Amino acid sequence: MPKRNVRVVIVGAGFGGLEAAKALKRAAADVTVIDQQNHHCFQPLLYQVATAALSPADIAWPIRHILRPQLNATVLMENVQAVDVVKKCLHTQFGVVPYDYLIIATGAMHSYFGHDDWSDYAPGLKRIEDATRIRRSILIAFEQAEVIQNQEEQRRLLTFVIVGGGATGVEMAGAIADVARETLAADFRRIDPRSARIVLIEAGPRLLPTFPQGLSKYAHDTLTRAGVEVKTSTLVTKCDALGVDLKDGRIDASTVIWAAGVMASPVARWLNVEADRAGRVKVSPDLSVPAHPEIFVIGDAAAVFDAQGHQVPGIAPAAKQMGKYVGKLISSRIAGRATPKAFHYVHLGDLATIGRRAAVVKFGRLELRGFIGWVFWSLAHIYFLIGLRNRFVVAFNWFWDYITFQRGARLITEVPSSKRKSERQP
Ligand SMILES: Cc1cc2nc3c(=O)[nH]c(=O)nc-3n(C[C@H](O)[C@H](O)[C@H](O)COP(=O)(O)OP(=O)(O)OC[C@H]3O[C@@H](n4cnc5c(N)ncnc54)[C@H](O)[C@@H]3O)c2cc1C
Repeated sequence: MPKRNVRVVIVGAGFGGLEAAKALKRAAADVTVIDQQNHHCFQPLLYQVATAALSPADIAWPIRHILRPQLNATVLMENVQAVDVVKKCLHTQFGVVPYDYLIIATGAMHSYFGHDDWSDYAPGLKRIEDATRIRRSILIAFEQAEVIQNQEEQRRLLTFVIVGGGATGVEMAGAIADVARETLAADFRRIDPRSARIVLIEAGPRLLPTFPQGLSKYAHDTLTRAGVEVKTSTLVTKCDALGVDLKDGRIDASTVIWAAGVMASPVARWLNVEADRAGRVKVSPDLSVPAHPEIFVIGDAAAVFDAQGHQVPGIAPAAKQMGKYVGKLISSRIAGRATPKAFHYVHLGDLATIGRRAAVVKFGRLELRGFIGWVFWSLAHIYFLIGLRNRFVVAFNWFWDYITFQRGARLITEVPSSKRKSERQP
């Protein structure tokens, strides 16, 4: 019988999974990449789709196309539902996929801290569908406010609440302020979009807790100047169809966006292994699962610590470094070479934008803020986008937005019937 190639199965074609697949390019292996979506999404720019600055196709690419040049890779669009670690196979909605090595890179999802029912009223931002849903909600709110006579309801429609003051919350709040104060300012006749109330709520004492104190303060002050109400040390106790309850009050709002917490995908349950409080699998120093040297968990789904005992953050560069490491490790094992030492994470830096012309950047010892930070942020993101077309389109859109204040992706499609009429009648 002819000798078959080693079967390496990668679940998830996000930042970690794709990098692992690429690192296996020269391995004598059949690499199968399984993802429930047909595209890889550049999540750091999802908020720009949600606020109509970019179109979905500018930040997502077909996985099949990305891996087309890699002849040892096969792409399957399937949803993995379970792993049989004894028989070494995956169960998907279409059947069974056997493996010799398994890399799980399924990322994380939103966490509503035990209140999953809030997700109906406060969508999070994780997939393209989430971004277009939020974009629709923001644009419809302005349209309905223009036609509704009841002033109380008009105020509710023009109130936008963002829960969570990390990078995504700060970026969303800044971008919605830009939409209201600049992009839409002259487009309406009955309402003044500039009067929109934008509230950013953070449970902790400051915004951007992973940044140095000075940059957090800069973000806070810049958002406040842009007209965003920043509420720190404030706990949301309930989200419903008409707004949010706080520990000490209530905000009626038509659009609530959840940027407060993440929970790893259910990998620990699939593998029946130990996880941390956020559901991340506690992996060994080589990112394998204890007692299973053939199974690796990487990216947002893994709890990994650096040499100093600090948790590796759930960000794209970390997932990419893990993917590359595991891909190389498996290639070495297949080739009978010495395997690389334990995974070593190198933190490159932290970046977040605050509206269309300011950003904060912490890059080693370098700290940037304001316009120079924004230029750095823009160049870094354009560099990491996939494909020349996307780099060009995104750069052009940002340049156009910068000089004209316009956002091109403002179409409302698929208006849900509940939104055809406002929840409260005039
Ligand atoms: C809104 C937002 C903004 C962000 N901004 C930044 C930023 O500015 N900078 C930064 O560095 N990081 C940022 N991040 C974090 C970064 O995107 C993640 O850390 C990174 O994507 C993690 O990579 P991953 O490979 O672990 O998972 P992901 O990239 O999330 O990929 C997981 C993949 O697994 C697939 N999948 C999941 N479950 C299944 C299943 N059961 N079957 C099949 N396929 C499955 C998904 O479809 C997805 O393609 C942001 C994240 C979000 C949500």
